[in-house]
Amino acid sequence: MHELSIAEAVVDLIEASAVTEKFSRVKTICLEIGKISHIETQALEFCFDSVSHGTLAEGAQLKIIEVAGLGHCMDCNIDVTIDQLYDPCPVCGGFRVTPKSGTEMRVKELEVE
Ligand SMILES: [Zn+2]
Repeated sequence: MHELSIAEAVVDLIEASAVTEKFSRVKTICLEIGKISHIETQALEFCFDSVSHGTLAEGAQLKIIEVAGLGHCMDCNIDVTIDQLYDPCPVCGGFRVTPKSGTEMRVKELEVE
């Protein structure tokens, strides 16, 4: 499952930064998720709960921030915001839109103690 590997990646990242930044517990994890990344936030929360069990991220709260997708319309030659992958260009209505961002996930902030 997509969400499971993402949850595992988040826990790995936290454990790695715990070593370098010397913290022992994570209270809150701020995650930025692109709207067109096809990540189910509820599924991700569920996976995170089970993956983080027994790690220092256990019990941490996930704060998910959805960021709008950005695409480039080849006909207008401008960047446009898109809510879904393969959405038409909001300016010309054409479908020659290449996704540029909003397809990814990143950890924005960690609240640790
Ligand atoms: Zn266009």
